[in-house]
Amino acid sequence: MEFLITWFLFGIGAAMVANSKGGNAIRWFFLGVIFGPFGLLFSFFSGGKQCPYCMSKIHKDAVICPKCQQKIPWHNGKSERNYEHLINKR
Ligand SMILES: [Zn+2]
Repeated sequence: MEFLITWFLFGIGAAMVANSKGGNAIRWFFLGVIFGPFGLLFSFFSGGKQCPYCMSKIHKDAVICPKCQQKIPWHNGKSERNYEHLINKR
């Protein structure tokens, strides 16, 4: 029983880490439950992307780097779809 609780906590931990990085919390919760400590470890590398100017890890939806204030030249995932949506509306 304790084993199951520990694995469940890994799922919650992975979901929280992924969520803070802009990842899919529900998907990472299940990955954390299935892979336990490995799921949690992988969640630290999930989502996010690297700033091409200062090489720091930033949120995947970030348009401007919070560290060096440079405009990120590329968009991906959700932000790209939102961007296209705005263009089409104009
Ligand atoms: Zn930067």
